[in-house]
Amino acid sequence: MEGGIKLGGSYRFTGIFGDPVEHSLSPAMHNAAYAALGMERAYLPFHVTPPRLRAALHAIPALGLIGVNLTVPHKERALRMMAHLSDEARTLGAINCVVNRDGVLHGDNTDARGLEADLREAGLDLAGKVAVIIGAGGGAAAALLACIRLGASTIAISNRTVARAQRLRRRFARYAPDSTAITAHGLDRLLGSGLLSSAALVVNATSIGFTAGEFLPLEYTATPGDCLFYDLIYAREPTPFLKPGIALGRRTLDGAGMLANQGALAFALFNKVPPPLGLMRTTLMSALGRA
Ligand code: NDP
Repeated sequence: MEGGIKLGGSYRFTGIFGDPVEHSLSPAMHNAAYAALGMERAYLPFHVTPPRLRAALHAIPALGLIGVNLTVPHKERALRMMAHLSDEARTLGAINCVVNRDGVLHGDNTDARGLEADLREAGLDLAGKVAVIIGAGGGAAAALLACIRLGASTIAISNRTVARAQRLRRRFARYAPDSTAITAHGLDRLLGSGLLSSAALVVNATSIGFTAGEFLPLEYTATPGDCLFYDLIYAREPTPFLKPGIALGRRTLDGAGMLANQGALAFALFNKVPPPLGLMRTTLMSALGRA
């Protein structure tokens, strides 16, 4: 859509509901894909506050929107407002995609598959290995499902509120094979070397790190030299969680690749065509000033 917006009467729309939404890079990613594929479609950001979520969702069929992504703070509440849910959405207890199928709203969630795809692209072999997930919210649930699917032998959840980590462990125990143990801890376990000394992957799934400053106390030096540090948060600069890992020479990735992959999966759900993942990823990286 760059170089002049020409939206004709035949155009159809997708978009994202969030509060705030102006920071979202999804419109750039999806619109670049539409332009490259020559589709008469556009992706719009909608600032939807929590009290207006229900009305905004009702407007999807009324306006003929093809579908929308959901971001903070709507992912969990919107689940209860769907006519149908995918198994993945039920498992995660949250949705990040709403697809309008003949006026009926279907909720789905592409976060776990997006992270799994990014970790596979990074060449991570987690089979039979240990993963540590910091946090116990919706992002942590997606990370937990991705680690289960990647075959981790132990997945340790460390969270400020231990009861929340324990709830997450109980919820996902049924999805894990016998060969995968899920454990729940407080943040203090990030200081002893026990948990970290055999970690192949450490994921930050807390919301700490949008702003500059220090991450939580974590014994980076206890991790093996080939441990991958993955931050679900993405930014122009290395995040506070990743900085000490970079300084130690560890492999680090932020959540930009997860965002690109979950966006590509959503594009396929909305438009029923194969998504141009490479283009969506490079568009995102250039929007982050990292191309
Ligand atoms: P939630 O609000 O559900 O969970 C936040 C988590 O952060 C909780 O575990 C909370 O602990 C923890 N936390 C927050 N502040 C602190 C603090 N000061 N000290 C210790 N722990 C803290 O958020 P989400 O799970 O939805 O999202 C987490 C992050 O993942 C966000 O930054 C989000 O943007 C990112 N994300 C990225 C995606 C991508 O595509 N790259 C997709 C999905 C999420 P407690 O339980 O104790 O409150």
